[in-house]
Amino acid sequence: MNSNEYIQIENEYGAHNYKPLDVVIDHAEGVYVYDVEGKRYLDCLSAYSAVNQGHCHPKIMQAMVNQAKKVTLTSRAFRNNVLPLYYKKLCEVTGFEMVLPMNTGAEAVETAIKTARKWGYQKKGVDKAEIIVCSGNFHGRTTTIISFSTDKSAKNDFAPYTDGFKIAEYGDINSMKKLVTKNTAAVLIEPIQGEAGIKIPPEGYLKDVRKLCTDNNILMILDEIQTGFSRTGKLFAFEHENIRPDMVTVGKALSGGFYPISAVLSSKEILGLFKPGEHGSTFGGSPLAAAIAMAALDVIIDENLAENSKILGEYFLSRLKTIKNPKIKEIRGRGLFIAIEMTIPARKYCEALCKDYGILVKETHEGTIRIAPPLVITKEQLDEAFEGFKAVFEED
Ligand SMILES: *Cc1c(COP(=O)(O)O)cnc(C)c1O
Repeated sequence: MNSNEYIQIENEYGAHNYKPLDVVIDHAEGVYVYDVEGKRYLDCLSAYSAVNQGHCHPKIMQAMVNQAKKVTLTSRAFRNNVLPLYYKKLCEVTGFEMVLPMNTGAEAVETAIKTARKWGYQKKGVDKAEIIVCSGNFHGRTTTIISFSTDKSAKNDFAPYTDGFKIAEYGDINSMKKLVTKNTAAVLIEPIQGEAGIKIPPEGYLKDVRKLCTDNNILMILDEIQTGFSRTGKLFAFEHENIRPDMVTVGKALSGGFYPISAVLSSKEILGLFKPGEHGSTFGGSPLAAAIAMAALDVIIDENLAENSKILGEYFLSRLKTIKNPKIKEIRGRGLFIAIEMTIPARKYCEALCKDYGILVKETHEGTIRIAPPLVITKEQLDEAFEGFKAVFEED
């Protein structure tokens, strides 16, 4: 079958909750994906940063296959001999004390919200827990999470909404200060807003949020599902401001793209509040997930992905900034997490990059192109990509 035939079937039988570029991918390796006609593309999205380690990384694949042959799912009704080793490794790599394993990012965020509320009632003594979030946030798609979205298309017609959230202006510490009450249990933010278009807050913002939380006995929760695991040039984006949150949600690259794996990381004091029966997941913490995540973490460390992201990110950003096109409003980034913000819809540039130059990128919120290639990319491969970007924007 050719691409068009696959697209027709997909459109007929699948809900249209996405608007994908019309590339039908058959297989992938490293930074490249190949469509059903055999055309090669350089992936500059990395499945929203889930494949930071590159597609089908052989070490992660081997770990997955080996574990799949032994046992994949025990449920947490019983123990397994991979989960403890995974917990220990994840804590050692990230510097947190305790893990609560889940599957999707949204579930990790839901878990963080439940944890913060429980902490609020049991430790802080709030009457009705409130959580402060930010405008432009993206934390997932569940009914509770979209309840505090400021994106109409994510939210409209999905009411009634979950109560207990207040929305501050992202990047503006004063607007957050005004929302603090004695019932504030937590602040939940992204250190850089990915879906909103790689919005980088003003320098010192995370430090200010940290101080506000410490001064008022509020948990600082960072959602690093997209920014974590070396995307921004450090293992976590919060390291750029030398702070530590009380809790962090991780997902995406925690699996290298092989399987949905997410987690909440925090201290014993906080995650230790859970007692048997109060929260759980059938697949969360399965031996298969644990084996995959351990291998995915090994690759991040062994292949120095943070360093590569930092060095090549700076290099690529400086090259992109030489592109001349009056419709470019701003080019910004941190590590290999780069945005080209246009004054007009960006879709046509994405389509041209894909069709004419074999580069896969996708617009976010109409006007912004997010560039986030697998972190195993080389300078030569980025130079190749640069020629495509330059041509598409300068021929415009
Ligand atoms: C992708 C993402 C999520 C949701 O993850 P899913 O696995 O799609 O549920 C949550 N927060 C952030 C910051 C994300 O980028």
